[in-house]
Amino acid sequence: MSPVPRRPSRQVRIAGKLVGGDAPILVQSMTNTDTEDAKSTADQVAALARAGSEAVRITVNTLEAARQVPAIRSRLDAMGVSVPLIGDFHFNGHKLLAQVPECAAVLDKYRINPGNVGHGARRDDQFATMIGKAVEFGKPVRIGVNWGSLDPELLARLMDANAKLARPLEADEVMREALIVSALESAAKAEEIGLPGDRIILSCKVSAVQDLIGVYRSLAARCDYPLHLGLTEAGMGSKGIVASTAAMGVLLQEGIGDTIRVSLTPEPGGDRTREVIVAQEILQTMGLRSFTPQVSACPGCGRTTSTFFQELADKIQQYLRAQMPAWKSQYPGVEDMHVAVMGCVVNGPGESKLADIGISLPGSGEKPVAPVFVDGEKTVTLKGERIAEEFQAIVEDYVKARYAPGAAKRSTQRKKTIAISSAE
Ligand code: SF4
Repeated sequence: MSPVPRRPSRQVRIAGKLVGGDAPILVQSMTNTDTEDAKSTADQVAALARAGSEAVRITVNTLEAARQVPAIRSRLDAMGVSVPLIGDFHFNGHKLLAQVPECAAVLDKYRINPGNVGHGARRDDQFATMIGKAVEFGKPVRIGVNWGSLDPELLARLMDANAKLARPLEADEVMREALIVSALESAAKAEEIGLPGDRIILSCKVSAVQDLIGVYRSLAARCDYPLHLGLTEAGMGSKGIVASTAAMGVLLQEGIGDTIRVSLTPEPGGDRTREVIVAQEILQTMGLRSFTPQVSACPGCGRTTSTFFQELADKIQQYLRAQMPAWKSQYPGVEDMHVAVMGCVVNGPGESKLADIGISLPGSGEKPVAPVFVDGEKTVTLKGERIAEEFQAIVEDYVKARYAPGAAKRSTQRKKTIAISSAE
């Protein structure tokens, strides 16, 4: 059960997966391949899905890209990957959805950016065409506003109205209000056109942490549509991860956010699936969902002069993550298992005893032995060259004994943690 009360919202179904209400917060991602290249795109969608993405968005930006969408779906089906596909439309979505009905039919959701659907009278017609296709094909829609492409006519209207106020708001406040109004007015228009309210998800993405928090708090208070949460253009590496976590952590803690995406810029040659892992880790470290057994590790210090401790922690984390596709079905509940990696005798044994399994590695100057704790009890002491392999085998045995269907459940209520720590 979630430790955080969720904001009440409607529920939207995306190809069998529920978003909003009391449904688990859904992890999404987006490809960066050319959608016209069906093989590369399907391969990346599959990689994202295998990493844990529960819906994957692909850009649909050209006629050829739209034509390739059914081929991408077929390739995924042939690979046994059933992840829902979301089409991202800008500028020409009305034409693509109308000209390539197979694309409209095969996608599981459309993302429409109200700032990029045209201007003046054409804007309304083009928006209506896209919503009409969603109605015709029974698809949900995310109305995804982004302040990099905010509807200029709407912004001008709000700026004019603001200028007439006795106490006008600051320009950035009007900008934030324009984002919210764009999403809400577009949703109201979509419902007028005939799209049911339980097929609409909203987002208002900005790139600054405090702006995102302010915008989503206000948006959440003014509607009951499910909200897609994400910091747009979060950036690369640690900056992108920290900014996304800081912004989304605050909102998720307030029960705001029904589906999330972490918009990381991959480093050259970097792995696109990192955004999925970061999204999962945000949710899991906050106790909102469980995906993979967690390894907790101390930072190490002058008491851990060798790299063995870091290598073992990393190896166990990688091992646990790699097992999850198979373990998920074989060992229900294993995702709640928790691994803590400590560095020495100072905190090691105490942390290990709180764990499901703990190994206490020797710090510098300590006796070169590594006691293992299982469910708080010391069971064995490892030594020699094969500590890592032997500990991994103990973890495997523990998983089978505890999580296999029909296995005796542990009676203690201790925090679920496997700890690796320094020696006593
Ligand atoms: S547990 Fe030991 S090695 Fe780890 S940070 Fe604390 S003192 Fe250093």
